[in-house]
Amino acid sequence: MRAVVFERFGEPAEVREVPDPVPAPHGVVVRVEATGLCRSDWHGWMGHDPDIALPHVPGHELAGVVEAVGAGVTGWRSGDRVTVPFVCACGSCASCAAGDQQVCERQTQPGFTHWGSFAEFVALDHADVNLVAVPEGMSFATAASLGCRFATAYRAVVQQGRVAAGEWVAVHGCGGVGLSAVMIAAAAGARVVAVDVSPGALELARKFGAAECVNAATTGDTAAAVRELSSGGAHLSLDALGSPTTCAASVNGLRRRGRHIQVGLLPSPDGTTPVPLARAIALELELLGSHGMAAHTYAPMLELVHAGTLRPDLLVTSTIPLEEAPGALGEMGAGVGAGVRVIEPWR
Ligand SMILES: [Zn+2]
Ligand SMILES: [Zn+2]
Repeated sequence: MRAVVFERFGEPAEVREVPDPVPAPHGVVVRVEATGLCRSDWHGWMGHDPDIALPHVPGHELAGVVEAVGAGVTGWRSGDRVTVPFVCACGSCASCAAGDQQVCERQTQPGFTHWGSFAEFVALDHADVNLVAVPEGMSFATAASLGCRFATAYRAVVQQGRVAAGEWVAVHGCGGVGLSAVMIAAAAGARVVAVDVSPGALELARKFGAAECVNAATTGDTAAAVRELSSGGAHLSLDALGSPTTCAASVNGLRRRGRHIQVGLLPSPDGTTPVPLARAIALELELLGSHGMAAHTYAPMLELVHAGTLRPDLLVTSTIPLEEAPGALGEMGAGVGAGVRVIEPWR
């Protein structure tokens, strides 16, 4: 098969022929019809992820058709249209038994712990636990954008954030996750304040339902701006970018008893990030992390997509062939364009 391969971190990747994957006994091989390009792929390529062994094929948000099925798989057949959460669970640890596959103790992530979906085929583990059927009428490009960004935002806003109609929700960082969060919170009836340094991203946020926008590049104290716009602070606030600055701004923009959700990955998994914890005590804030979304909790989100209430398709701004993926991967470091770019390996 053809795949995007890199031999060294930070050096140009290339499209080349590699052996086709074979399914594990509990796994499947999926023919990749669409796979999103995400900043996490860039982090992996730069060597920021200790799970990656070289040579490597990136790609973790994908949709496609089941091509081959391991002997132990009972729920899926070749020809099924599927997608997966970017966190693939084992199905048998204590967290999985509790229904919390998104924090599985033996999780695998295509494009990180093994070769990913910037390829014509990808192997996925524990198919019965992790595959999600792509509804009829949903394009593969749209389904691919669910796996990492949209589902991650949905869990952050709805499942962890417990958004309610009428609440003020602040979203710091309007990339793929942030724009998804804006759309999901607005659809839930919340009033959304979007924060970003890019006028283009804020324009999209406005289009996706943000009631207010704050340009962080020209606003000195974004937390103060959020508090003012929301009459005292957000009920719910997300750091959807992942930086010490946006994390602190998110916490500082909350009202009393507000909820901060850290969903943007912070730069150093082994390091620490300063958090205004004194404010968390004084105002009785809740500080929660959010990490992907379990496959078995996709149904309510897919129903809202089917009803047209949520429009993940609007996030897909362009599709490119596999040959353009190496160049596009390199560009992800220098200020990501707003919206989601999708690779179609068979185009
Ligand atoms: Zn991602
Ligand atoms: Zn598990």
